[in-house]
Amino acid sequence: MRIMILGPPGSGKGTCSKIIEEIYKIPVITTGDMLREAVSKESPLGIIAKTYMEKGELVPDDLVNKLVKERISEKDSVKGFILDGYPRSIKQAQVLEEMLAEMGKKLDHVINVVLEDEAIITRLSLRRSCPKCGAIYHLINKPPKKQGLCDLCNTKIVQREDDKEEVIKHRLEVYWEKTQPLIDWYEKRVKVKKIRGDIDINILPKVIKEIIES
Ligand code: AMP
Repeated sequence: MRIMILGPPGSGKGTCSKIIEEIYKIPVITTGDMLREAVSKESPLGIIAKTYMEKGELVPDDLVNKLVKERISEKDSVKGFILDGYPRSIKQAQVLEEMLAEMGKKLDHVINVVLEDEAIITRLSLRRSCPKCGAIYHLINKPPKKQGLCDLCNTKIVQREDDKEEVIKHRLEVYWEKTQPLIDWYEKRVKVKKIRGDIDINILPKVIKEIIES
């Protein structure tokens, strides 16, 4: 099963993806995480990507398309995958369509996670993450057990540079200009299923399962 999760930054795509991964045992392909890893390793891709990411701009399509092409060709993606944060432009969607066609595959579900900009700004500005293991916290809704330290690896948690308010606002502008038009693009091809990004986490798995299996 191949599933795509669309939606603005901070809407809850990552949470939905992890739930789907647990239910259907297929890997999540998160371009944001892959790019952050390249940045932390200071690989040639990471050095270029960093300059775009810290400003809240999209990393050039060709670089991200190459990354995804390699990833979806890996063995664990054969039985399916969840795309989280990709595609983010019409160009990326067109390239993905070609990649899947070459592999004789297609998307089974496109899910759009919706949340208002105001709620996203509040959510992301209170988000903290562990630079070592990637665990995500929220200062009010999901604070770490020991203040300022990751529950899983005891590393000092940090605010991502691009979770600072001015950058969040720019990421949302980029979303509305370049990524949101993808919803119409996909609606002409498949049924795009909508889910709110602020559904109670306790009922979210049930809601997602219903959406996918309806
Ligand atoms: P995210 O964690 O998904 O919000 O992504 C963080 C940043 O990584 C974005 O603001 C972009 O700079 C970059 N990024 C992630 N996915 C993509 C993509 N599909 N295309 C271009 N840039 C991306």
